[in-house]
Amino acid sequence: MRKIIKGVHEFQTNYFNTHRELFERLSEGQHPRILFITCSDSRIDPNLLTQTEPGELFIIRNVGNIIPPYGATTGAEGAAIEYAVEALGIKHIIVCGHSHCGAMKGLLQPSKLTDKMPLVYDWLKYAEGTRRIIQENYQDYEGDALLNAAIEENVLTQIENLRSYPVIHSKLYKGQLELHAWVYKIETGGVYVYSAERCSIKADHEEEEIEKNLQGAASHAFMNGNGKVSSLH
Ligand SMILES: [Zn+2]
Repeated sequence: MRKIIKGVHEFQTNYFNTHRELFERLSEGQHPRILFITCSDSRIDPNLLTQTEPGELFIIRNVGNIIPPYGATTGAEGAAIEYAVEALGIKHIIVCGHSHCGAMKGLLQPSKLTDKMPLVYDWLKYAEGTRRIIQENYQDYEGDALLNAAIEENVLTQIENLRSYPVIHSKLYKGQLELHAWVYKIETGGVYVYSAERCSIKADHEEEEIEKNLQGAASHAFMNGNGKVSSLH
């Protein structure tokens, strides 16, 4: 705790003092442009990763960057989504999974959770679609390759879950919202951008479309089980 309290003091004397104008502006209201959904994992820092300042990202964090489908629960995720899209007028939602995700490791071995972490076990039911896809389509995978497939597929599962929310469904219909599927590799700093359309192993033009959406940020692409993928450099 001592380190944390020292950190608060340092924040107040250094960062806050040099960014007073920003914080005064923020005290009048928030206008974030992005809803960033990621894992609770301590190794992820959305603002650091995207080099954004306070006020720029509206963030949902939970175990496994999971969004329960609409109607499955009345939890915090749904409320945050509604608020982000309806009240804040957010136009982009990023679901960002990450390498070495403990939640996805748990998803691959759910029986290990039932005894000691029953709440995690219950929560991972909202990623059951991911588990099924892995079980039925990735029989040849093992170890890290299997885990990475689960991490990637789960981001797409959660994008699909997002689509089940009426507020998102409607904005997508009107072309007023875009969904983005990302995976962050802790060990390299790489960010991989997946087509938000599952199983979209389609023509090359889709890949170009992704790159265009990224405003030329993607410099190379490769295939995986999900379809086209681009890397942000
Ligand atoms: Zn995680």
